[in-house]
Amino acid sequence: MPCFLFLLLAAGCVDEAQEREIGEAIAGDINQQIPLVQDPLLNAYVERLGSVLAQASDRPGLDYHFFIIDSDVVNAFALPGGYIYLTRGLLEQTRSGPELAAVLAHEIGHVAARHGVQKLERQLRTGSVVGMLYNVILGGQPDLLRQRALGLGGALWSARHSREDEHEADELAVEYLVRAGVDPAGMVSLLQTLLQEEADQDTSRVSEWFSTHPVTSQRISQAKEEIRSVDATPPEDRKSVV
Ligand code: ZN
Repeated sequence: MPCFLFLLLAAGCVDEAQEREIGEAIAGDINQQIPLVQDPLLNAYVERLGSVLAQASDRPGLDYHFFIIDSDVVNAFALPGGYIYLTRGLLEQTRSGPELAAVLAHEIGHVAARHGVQKLERQLRTGSVVGMLYNVILGGQPDLLRQRALGLGGALWSARHSREDEHEADELAVEYLVRAGVDPAGMVSLLQTLLQEEADQDTSRVSEWFSTHPVTSQRISQAKEEIRSVDATPPEDRKSVV
């Protein structure tokens, strides 16, 4: 039985060590069950770009990991602890390094702001997760517990974030992109591409993205506003990574 579940039950809040443990456990399950792109050059590029952005984030101390899911679906998500996933479908939608960087920076923003962890903490406080886990633990069915734990992980990463969390992740993404010396305009152009694709009724590829990251013209305007409000001059000592 994973010990982090006991810690969660006991404390009702999640510290950084527990967050890492939760992320690692869920990532282990996901990586066993979902096909990942194994392309050394592409993986190295995403890893390097993501690492530079993570170092420019508000939580540079986490050990970040970046994975590409081998799927046509367009989506990206972040697990607690710094495990970031994007799909091949989303990668193919990006037309430039800054657009890809914008996706990674947005997901790093969710991790830095602890959005997934806060969601879990809220569930713990309301007792819904606690009740579920108690039932399973008292029932003494370890396999079922593992299954439910994965379900818990699934809820964390597949559930849609609130509009406020999405907005905050966008704001943080702009900051991190600028700090890393990447043109934040990539975020606007990617969002415009996705919005256009949805308007063209080609929803089979982008529908997943829209269910977790709703793109609206308001969100694009807010991103533009954020870019205008930050000093877009990258630090002199930092070379662009894209
Ligand atoms: Zn998001």
